Amino acid sequence: MNAFDVLIVGGGQAGAVAAIMLRQRGFAGTLAIVGDEPELPYERPPLSKEYLSRAKTFEQLLMRPAMFYDEKKIELRLGARVISLDAQAHSVALENGSALTYEKLIWATGGRPRRLTCPGHELAGVHTVRTRADVDRMQGELGGTTRVAIVGGGYIGLEAASVLSKLGKKVVILEALDRLLARVAGEKLSHFFAAEHRAHGVDIHFGAKIACILEKEGRAVGVRLAEGEVLPCDMVVVGIGIIPAVEALLAAGAAGGNGVQVDALCRTSLPDVFAVGDCALHPNRFADGAHIRLESVQNANDQAATVAKVLTGTDAPYEAAPWFWSNQYDLRLQTIGLTTGHDRELLRGDVTTRSFSVLYLRGGKVVALDCMNATRDYVQGRALVTLGYRADSAAREAQLVDVNVPLKSLVSVPASNPL
Ligand code: FAD
Repeated sequence: MNAFDVLIVGGGQAGAVAAIMLRQRGFAGTLAIVGDEPELPYERPPLSKEYLSRAKTFEQLLMRPAMFYDEKKIELRLGARVISLDAQAHSVALENGSALTYEKLIWATGGRPRRLTCPGHELAGVHTVRTRADVDRMQGELGGTTRVAIVGGGYIGLEAASVLSKLGKKVVILEALDRLLARVAGEKLSHFFAAEHRAHGVDIHFGAKIACILEKEGRAVGVRLAEGEVLPCDMVVVGIGIIPAVEALLAAGAAGGNGVQVDALCRTSLPDVFAVGDCALHPNRFADGAHIRLESVQNANDQAATVAKVLTGTDAPYEAAPWFWSNQYDLRLQTIGLTTGHDRELLRGDVTTRSFSVLYLRGGKVVALDCMNATRDYVQGRALVTLGYRADSAAREAQLVDVNVPLKSLVSVPASNPL
């Protein structure tokens, strides 16, 4: 069959959850997922954590076993890539020459890793961390690897640094800006992570501009920085963000740019076409309604749920609070809200104990919370962000940073709070 009531393009987090939720909500029409990876849908977060360290097998990453999709009549077309879309005809064309038609389309294609553009960026030994295949390739080379250069001090680069240094590799992080996690976290957290990585023997270069990857017999053997310094290595791991995979949608006339633009119900500007997950440029309540993209499991799951609801008769706008986590060494970071545009950072607890929280304020309102080995603060403090707690007096600020004042005592959460 090549005609579906709901067709999902992309078999990752958001695509799989959309299909699962549709069936959970009683959707009985024909339903298929087309995904260009050969594997069953799996969770990506362990790729830079437990899967890279081999603490988890690939089977443990699967979102559901194969029989689930059979039982739920979710047709999987794996290893199949959609290359174009005809919005009027309600059809998509696949790379293998076939075409599928749909009543409703859910675009859930995530993004592909941004690559370096300098000479040598395509050499053997230069890796990205987005798919199972990426990590398998890396693992296949680790035996002969002593030194690793990681380009990019974001979460993926830091998680990879943590695993690789624990595996005994000599790791250097090359970050273009003047601190780690500069796009997503405040200075206190950046400095803390830098100190932790250095304490584990990881070298960090800030303000690093890559001039080229050096080559010997077709393989990467070092990185030359713009100032001329050469850092020898056997492997380069590039973690510098993703490019949303929306070219086919934009070519079909969908509004967008850095992602495909959707409204609060995840509808694109094309009829009967929705978009969810990393590729969706959506209005976010926690960014004051600005259109942003989020790259997180929370966003993928909650947007998938939004569309599953719309397609089963409930129009409930996407308003979920952004949350995220990262594991490095014995550190567990849990974060809620968006730090963008914050004007104050308050430290709750003592950084030297490696258990503390950072509260981010914008105009006196708590807009985000980073909790380091501080799950109680995370659980109790979520409501500060979701309800927009105002720390508009010195007394209220003092309570926020006093570890003897439980965060839950500062707000009363209405039983109906959906966030
Ligand atoms: P994806 O999961 O990327 O799925 C998209 C799928 O669509 C892919 O399989 C892709 O190959 C396929 N596809 C693309 N184009 C086409 C096409 N034209 N035709 C067919 N198929 C196509 N988030 C957290 O919240 N916490 C974490 O700790 C965390 N760690 C992460 C670690 C790593 C290494 C990575 C890569 C991501 C991590 N994330 C984390 C982010 C999270 O995994 C993503 O936000 C989430 O997977 C996004 O889901 P998605 O469905 O939008 O995209």
